[in-house]
Amino acid sequence: MHDHGVCLEMLYQARRRIAGEAVRTPLERSASLSARFDADILLKLETCQPTGAFKLRGAVNMLAALIEDRGREALSAGVVTASTGNHGRAVAHAASRLGVPALVCLSRLVPANKVAAIEALGGEVRRVGASQDEAFSEVERLVSERGMTLIPPFDDPRVVAGQGTIGLELMEDCPDLDRVIVGLSGGGLLGGIGAAVKAIRPACRVTGVSLSRGAAMWESLKAGHPVEVEEVESLGDSLGGGIGRDNRSTLRLVREVMDDHLQVSERAIAAAMVDILEQEKRLVEGAAAVGLAAIEEHGLDVRGQRVALILSGNAVSLSTLDRARALAGR
Ligand SMILES: *Cc1c(COP(=O)(O)O)cnc(C)c1O
Repeated sequence: MHDHGVCLEMLYQARRRIAGEAVRTPLERSASLSARFDADILLKLETCQPTGAFKLRGAVNMLAALIEDRGREALSAGVVTASTGNHGRAVAHAASRLGVPALVCLSRLVPANKVAAIEALGGEVRRVGASQDEAFSEVERLVSERGMTLIPPFDDPRVVAGQGTIGLELMEDCPDLDRVIVGLSGGGLLGGIGAAVKAIRPACRVTGVSLSRGAAMWESLKAGHPVEVEEVESLGDSLGGGIGRDNRSTLRLVREVMDDHLQVSERAIAAAMVDILEQEKRLVEGAAAVGLAAIEEHGLDVRGQRVALILSGNAVSLSTLDRARALAGR
């Protein structure tokens, strides 16, 4: 049926594996946004996950699948990753819940509060090198020399299927959904949701939203192969980073399931963050506000439609919120 590597069976398997560890999050209708756009605007609240972001779904699914396939003993050396953000927290939390040691390699430049957040979830942190690339080299060394197992942030079908359980939930809670608007970076989130939605309701549009600068997936789709871009600071920092020089699954998957692709400016992200806080009383990080930012900035005509926005995470500091308010002028 589909040859992009994530089928319905894998999504249902993922759902069974993550039940009890990741939250089946609410899909909440926003009265104010629905009135503003003359549409049904539905908010998928991934901010309700215990780690504050959807990445727990993918991390739990991959870890549980590894335990099923190889047994817990084969994982005694532990799992490892190099993410500073929501993925690092997800791996630390999932591993401590499932009783597997976890090591998160971070560069020495990562701020102390991010290190503490991962340690608080039961993960061990190793500070190494002066860049994310050097931290990742340490991960590769630990995998080849110590037999640790890498849990990648997006480029594995088990991670993608975990994120795709969001799509199954959307289809159950709103079977006649017209469109879903998803923040896009490495493509695990959009690829997973898109695989579920296109298998169940092909007429539902899948819209991806990337940053306007430093968007590796945007450039890679244009070029037809993985492209490396320079990382720039952004309010949507969870959407930064590359897609991997030898991306195996998400580039192709995103190309197959995504109907349209938009970029949003920092100013639009800032305004959307402040709107969601002020009107919805929900605190979200920039990456989680890009769906609203895209509707506003591109004047998307969603009149009369049922549209889901994925509020993907809430990792935002007060100083970043101040920056957003200053940029939004509110
Ligand atoms: C990781 C992340 C994304 C993007 O997910 P990808 O699978 O990398 O495309 C979006 N929002 C938040 C909050 C994230 O942490």
